[in-house]
Amino acid sequence: MPAKEKPIPEFNEDSAYAFVQRQVDFGPRVPGTAAHRSCGDFLAARLEQYGAKVIEQEATVRAFDGKTLEMRNIIGAYRPELTRRILLAAHWDCRPWSDQEPLPEHRQEPVMGANDGASGVGVLLEIARQIGACLTDSSRLPAVGVDIIFFDVEDYGAPSWAADREDSWCLGSQYWARHPHQTGYRAQWGILLDMVGAGNACFMREYFSDHYAQSVVSRVWNCAEALGYGAWFVNARGGAVTDDHLYVNRLAGIPCIDIIDFDEQRGGFFAQWHTRRDDMDQIDSRTLKAVGQTLTAIIFSE
Ligand SMILES: [Zn+2]
Repeated sequence: MPAKEKPIPEFNEDSAYAFVQRQVDFGPRVPGTAAHRSCGDFLAARLEQYGAKVIEQEATVRAFDGKTLEMRNIIGAYRPELTRRILLAAHWDCRPWSDQEPLPEHRQEPVMGANDGASGVGVLLEIARQIGACLTDSSRLPAVGVDIIFFDVEDYGAPSWAADREDSWCLGSQYWARHPHQTGYRAQWGILLDMVGAGNACFMREYFSDHYAQSVVSRVWNCAEALGYGAWFVNARGGAVTDDHLYVNRLAGIPCIDIIDFDEQRGGFFAQWHTRRDDMDQIDSRTLKAVGQTLTAIIFSE
């Protein structure tokens, strides 16, 4: 008798949208601010409410300018007893400077990060809610352990007016990759989400993702195509992006891909990237659906 296929939950894009809005309502979540603290508390509480075992990783990291920052990575683990695990991640901090603003007088203002940060976290919170709803019936749960990691201090990289320093970005994931939340932590593979909410988003096969985890990239892009999301997931080689996945690959040795809205032909990231206009006006729930439903299908068929 063939094994009964596990039902794939319906990803609710309105719920994901509300999770993005909720983060934005705190204000820019710049490390060291009250908005950052409150939003971190909210994220940890939600993961716990949706049945994850929550582990918070706090440490002091040094920024490119020598400033010390209190970093807080927030991890939600489902079925922590399983050794076969997958990792899903997004960064939850906001950039302190809008250094891509056309007007110099606005470049010192923080980025709201509706797309750059909150969108990925919003999709993962909705996935946490879906997994949580299955906890009462283990036959409906993914067959693997799922770890959701909200990385902090991704976006504190040297601004355009400072000398570029290698590895000034992704301080939270660099810390985690060197000091995983559990000794000897392993995951079979990982998926990072970054800027997954813009209306005209285009996800291409990011260079490092294809280099370190080509089979995962192929699986995700094929799945998206099969679900009818080929307009968002373009099955062609895109550019190389330094993002949290790079350190998960290089330092932790876990094959990890990045689903990121980056298109060199179009001039790079979405038009409002690192400006004051990365706000809720940029967020389109259809894009959240395309990413969230694809990810849900991948996780629940693993
Ligand atoms: Zn950014």
